[in-house]
Amino acid sequence: MNRLERLKAKLKEQNVDGIFLQNDSNIRYISGFTGSDSFVIVSEGANAFITDSRYTEQAQEECRDFEVIRWRTPAPGLEETIQSICSKHGIKRLAFEREAITYAMYVQLTNGLPEIELVPTSEIVEGLRGVKDEEEIQCISKAAEIADQAFTEILKYIKPGVTERDIERELQYLIKKQGADDIGFPIIVASGKRSSLPHAIPADKKIEKGDFVTLDFGAMYKGYRSDMTRTIVMSEADEKQREIYDIVKSAQAAASAAIKAGMSCKEVDACARDYIANAGYGECFGHGLGHGVGLDIHEEPYFSTKSDKFLEAGNIMTVEPGVYLPSWGGVRIEDTVVVRENGIEVLTKSSKELIIIG
Ligand code: ZN
Ligand code: ZN
Repeated sequence: MNRLERLKAKLKEQNVDGIFLQNDSNIRYISGFTGSDSFVIVSEGANAFITDSRYTEQAQEECRDFEVIRWRTPAPGLEETIQSICSKHGIKRLAFEREAITYAMYVQLTNGLPEIELVPTSEIVEGLRGVKDEEEIQCISKAAEIADQAFTEILKYIKPGVTERDIERELQYLIKKQGADDIGFPIIVASGKRSSLPHAIPADKKIEKGDFVTLDFGAMYKGYRSDMTRTIVMSEADEKQREIYDIVKSAQAAASAAIKAGMSCKEVDACARDYIANAGYGECFGHGLGHGVGLDIHEEPYFSTKSDKFLEAGNIMTVEPGVYLPSWGGVRIEDTVVVRENGIEVLTKSSKELIIIG
């Protein structure tokens, strides 16, 4: 079954006549459209793509399975356009994406579509996106390869005296130069004591001898993202740095070794979390172990203590334990991996041995 057929089957299960989509990544997944500010209605009989004059031509080019319908101000307005699609295709119960809609839009649709029952739903398309097909895996694999190449190059650039912002700018350039559409997400560069901040924004701080430098970055290729983190040490590593690095590296390896189709996401999280806790640093690992990656940088499923999901072959996940000691520093190591029936395929291939440079 193709994506549209799978979506239609899911709508039947949900007991709705159709779905109104407005999340850009969900729209891209279902229709192929790479722009924004557009809407999709899918029902048994309708594949409708709703947009304005800025995107009409692009949508006709990209969304071959869809009827492209242009709405205008003042008429036919958005509600009128939706109403006529619903009337034509007998849609009475119309699902919408509860996480994507704004309150203003909800009010606009409720007032403008008095005969349609709007049904809040969650994770309908996201649920389909969790399992990647081979073409999607190829794109993420390419994004990971680009990030690996950029990492090799950036190591030559990092030396005492350059700032975190310098590194961020250079890495951004290298990722695009290797053929990415864009960076995968805003780059994190955290050095020295600042490496204890899991999501540090690059600052004007200069890199110094003895610093840990954590780089968290990825590439976007054909809309799909990769995500990786490596922590390196400048000049020489002391005993404490080696101890913490080894704990994170072993926790990352333990969780990676456990991953395969059918595993519970909570159990995978526990593999790394228990390892770090047994080493005495349980309090220093506050975030989840990982997340799905695809058209969005963070998507279902998640490795966390709260998840009730199970892995399926074709999920693409990050594995990213960290240990952060306030006002000392921290280490995170992250790979992007494909879940297979009996294990994983690691897409980010840069070494996880402690790298000492400068
Ligand atoms: Zn990351
Ligand atoms: Zn991540």
